[in-house]
Amino acid sequence: MRNILGVDVGGTFVRMGTLKNGKVENPVKRSSAEIFSHPEGAAAGLAQALAEYAAGTQFDAVGVGIPGTVSRDGERVLNVPNIPGLNDTPLRDALTDALKAPVFVENDITMLTAGDSRRLDLDSGVVFGCYIGTGLGGSVLVDGKLLRGRSALCEPGHVPIYGLDRPCGCGKSGCAEAYVAGRALERLLAEKYPQGHISEIFDLMSEEDLTEYVDILAHLLATTMQLLDPDAVIMGGGVCAMSGFPREKLLERLGELCMKPVPASTLNLLYPVASDVSGIYGAAVFAEGSLI
Ligand SMILES: [Zn+2]
Repeated sequence: MRNILGVDVGGTFVRMGTLKNGKVENPVKRSSAEIFSHPEGAAAGLAQALAEYAAGTQFDAVGVGIPGTVSRDGERVLNVPNIPGLNDTPLRDALTDALKAPVFVENDITMLTAGDSRRLDLDSGVVFGCYIGTGLGGSVLVDGKLLRGRSALCEPGHVPIYGLDRPCGCGKSGCAEAYVAGRALERLLAEKYPQGHISEIFDLMSEEDLTEYVDILAHLLATTMQLLDPDAVIMGGGVCAMSGFPREKLLERLGELCMKPVPASTLNLLYPVASDVSGIYGAAVFAEGSLI
């Protein structure tokens, strides 16, 4: 039985745990500020935290999900907006030295897609992970392996939607994320429904606002359906899990925008239930899959 360490690096917490018998055991949550303020740098801090967690245990593999970009070969962390100390660091080697095990560092959305694919029994075929939270991130897995482009970037949130021009946090305008992710919903709440709470935004939205929301998200998804012809689309992240998220309306609009008979008749949008250990699980599953 393999012993895999899964690590979910976030701007506030670093979560780690052991994947055994298909389940996360001994999950631990530590403060990111404490770990990444290490005098020898952020990578050294993470290496020390993981070595302390391991406490001499020999792991068969280690998976680390980070909220940023990693070089195509997985060796270097390129950019982590919330943890600048990790920018341009050879994190993989630093962790390999500390843990004496194969280490796989990837973007956290890729890790979530890997974990959710396993839980949903999607280890083969093409899976598109679409995670809508504060922003909109994504990842494409082919037979459980990450589809890596030239710069190892998959950024569906920044697909431009024709005819729209709202400024996006990335510096462009008209990106899908600027209309369908958490920041856009906060803005809509403040502008039109100031009496409500963000958790009920989909229940508060007028028919017109909801139709526009669905239309923009459906255009983004239709683009990916036509390009990738995926076996499944995983709709994850806090926004997709919110009360009133328009699943049926989205599926209906997507069906109108896709070619018939396929993929319009074979749309497979899945909504996994997340937990505190989803990131740990995904990172460990990805590392396990990468060993083969
Ligand atoms: Zn953008």
